[in-house]
Amino acid sequence: MSKPYTLKKSLGQHFLHDENMCQQIVAQIDYSAGKKIVEIGPGGGAISKYLIAEEGIEYKAIEIDEEKYHYLEATYPAIKGKIILQDVLQASIPYEGAFSVIGNFPYNISSPIMFKMLEWETQVDEVIGMFQKEVAERIAAGPGTKVYGILSVLTQAFFEVTYLFDVPPNCFTPPPKVMSGVVRFVNIHNPYNIDNFKKFKMLVKAAFGQRRKTLRNALRSVVPPAALADALMDKRAEQLSVADFVYLYRTYL
Ligand code: SAM
Repeated sequence: MSKPYTLKKSLGQHFLHDENMCQQIVAQIDYSAGKKIVEIGPGGGAISKYLIAEEGIEYKAIEIDEEKYHYLEATYPAIKGKIILQDVLQASIPYEGAFSVIGNFPYNISSPIMFKMLEWETQVDEVIGMFQKEVAERIAAGPGTKVYGILSVLTQAFFEVTYLFDVPPNCFTPPPKVMSGVVRFVNIHNPYNIDNFKKFKMLVKAAFGQRRKTLRNALRSVVPPAALADALMDKRAEQLSVADFVYLYRTYL
């Protein structure tokens, strides 16, 4: 049956139609009583309809598309008043206290969404997110791999990341050209005590900005001269663990 709305490529609107997959995704959340959940990009409600049916949890959604906002309000009475019609990247934190995030994220803004999660980190308990598989793998990657990079280090400094499962293109309307993947992040409560995220991010970005060079070259303009004698400076960014990056940040910045 055709739906009474348009699908907007510019907003990454690949909607899930495979109900088994929708159920598999929502099953990843722990629905303990009083749990607060925000869904990013509810779209046509593929996941939302299961979330609003859960008893004892608080649900909110953030959707940028006014057409989908009106569609959801008209189709699912229980969702009325729970959708924030806004660009998630401009949104302020949706709850007081801890909450979980779930979403089949628009792939064109995967990295900015990740940075939003890091901005909200002190209150985000857990994220169940679907990304383009390649991005999901980058976020979950460890040192020594080709895809280990800025997103891996920044995310893993604050969250334990687990790649959960693949989602093939035929689960969506229209099917995307690429495979998708669902990832779980669990907040590890800033174990490294990173107190200046901007500085940490600047260091990691500079290191991976020239990933083929040794850190001695890549970080020359970022760290004080004394730091260049450190043995870690003989390595390349992709060889450093998250703890190594934290060591450089704490010692030299
Ligand atoms: N959750 C639905 C599903 O699984 O079928 C829709 C997922 S679709 C991949 C992404 C959704 O995010 C769309 O509904 C789109 O309108 C919404 N979206 C895109 N950019 C957004 C933004 N900046 N802020 C909030 N929502 C956004």
